[in-house]
Amino acid sequence: MSSIPKIVIVGAGYGGILTAQQLQKELKHNEADVTLINRHDYHYITTHLHMPAAGTDTIEHSRIPIAQLIDEFKVDLVKGTVKEIIPKEKKIVLEDGSLSYDYLVIGLGGEPETFGIPGMDKFALTIRSINSVRLIREHIEYQLALYKNDGKPGRLNFVVGGAGFSGIEFVAELADRLPQLARAYDIDFNRIQIINVEAAPTALPGFDPELVEYAMDVLKRKGVTFRIGIPIKECLQDGVIVGEGEKIEACTVVWTGGIRGNGLIEKAGFEVMRGRVKIDDFLRAPEHDDIFIIGDSSLMFNPEGRPYPPTAQIAMQQGVLCAKNLAATLRKKELHKFVFSNKGTVASLGKGEAVAVVGKRKIKGWVAAQLKKIVDLRYLFIIGGIPLVLKKGRFF
Ligand code: FAD
Ligand code: NAD
Repeated sequence: MSSIPKIVIVGAGYGGILTAQQLQKELKHNEADVTLINRHDYHYITTHLHMPAAGTDTIEHSRIPIAQLIDEFKVDLVKGTVKEIIPKEKKIVLEDGSLSYDYLVIGLGGEPETFGIPGMDKFALTIRSINSVRLIREHIEYQLALYKNDGKPGRLNFVVGGAGFSGIEFVAELADRLPQLARAYDIDFNRIQIINVEAAPTALPGFDPELVEYAMDVLKRKGVTFRIGIPIKECLQDGVIVGEGEKIEACTVVWTGGIRGNGLIEKAGFEVMRGRVKIDDFLRAPEHDDIFIIGDSSLMFNPEGRPYPPTAQIAMQQGVLCAKNLAATLRKKELHKFVFSNKGTVASLGKGEAVAVVGKRKIKGWVAAQLKKIVDLRYLFIIGGIPLVLKKGRFF
């Protein structure tokens, strides 16, 4: 039997892919067997998903075959769905078999957080994977087609629950897309409503107030109606109940109200907060020096004691460090602490518009939109070099 340590990475998202790629660079021949398990044989660019969801971009721009991103001589790729993680037995149970590990990296991403709002799980659509955004895209067009047959007004109302970054980026794409669809379906665009409902007293809570105001102005001009400071209390098949019981009729409700850690992690027995495990400075699960948890399923606090938001930027940086710390563990060397390097935040507001904070600089409009493109191209370059940039990049 092989005595080479087995490293298993579950999830090939931002964290998982960066871990696998960095391990390829770090590890010497036969220093460890590395296996990467993912539900699909493609990696999807979650940060793009609001576009194919609205129909402003193709699905193919948002996914990349994993085989193109890793060296299969160095990393075994297993297409499979993880059903259970059993830390005590150092075992991963898949839909069709199981695998043992010496070291485990959990990069399974997050799940929509519905806060127990009745009907949300059942009736709302969510932006979380290629399959879920395909559904949103088809659903939107289907509602317009149905409207032309039954005339039900709710089919022309599109409610987005939550005006965080995902909600804002998605309503912006909807506002770009729906006028085109309205023309294609012979519907007066003025009859269509895009309604973004936010419970907090402002859209983009926590973001720079001047840029929030700019973003809302841009989106209002594009036709978005904001209902700010009004929580969604219930989701129905034909609308949402908000505030003190008002019903907003809508046959399309997309929930972008937040995310929590992947449910498999809590089931594995880890102590969680909103499904996320508070990891140590070296990215390991408490009392499990053999398990690293990165990305949206992990919880880390900044030096001021506030939790880092679950972002791709953090997942990527964690992935790189995770690989370095795995190599250090194998070599019985000292591990390095995670130090977040904040590159800034850019939120797209649809075609040609965005808002950004980079360091202390506030950027808006066309310049910020170009910055967003650069951020996206940079990611493609990091994981796939120039060939991937040319293949999947959006330059216009
Ligand atoms: P993910 O990237 O979600 O990857 C998880 C992987 O695990 C997936 O490949 C999934 O298929 C796989 N998986 C899940 N369950 C299983 C299972 N049971 N078995 C096998 N495989 C499984 N962040 C930013 O920093 N900048 C942005 O501009 C930005 N834009 C965003 C836009 C949108 C619309 C959304 C929804 C999010 C955005 N984010 C952004 C947040 C960012 O996408 C996440 O923080 C990031 O994807 C987290 O990376 P991850 O590696 O933890 O998980
Ligand atoms: P989020 O948690 O950041 O925002 C969810 C929003 O929904 C909040 O504003 C919240 O107040 C609101 N909400 C919650 N319950 C509600 C209710 N009952 N009714 C109405 N509103 C309600 O979630 P997100 O926007 O999906 O973002 C998830 C993570 O991904 C964040 O860390 C975010 O920074 C990151 N992200 C980043 C970008 C970017 O950098 N461009 C884009 C998308 C997402």
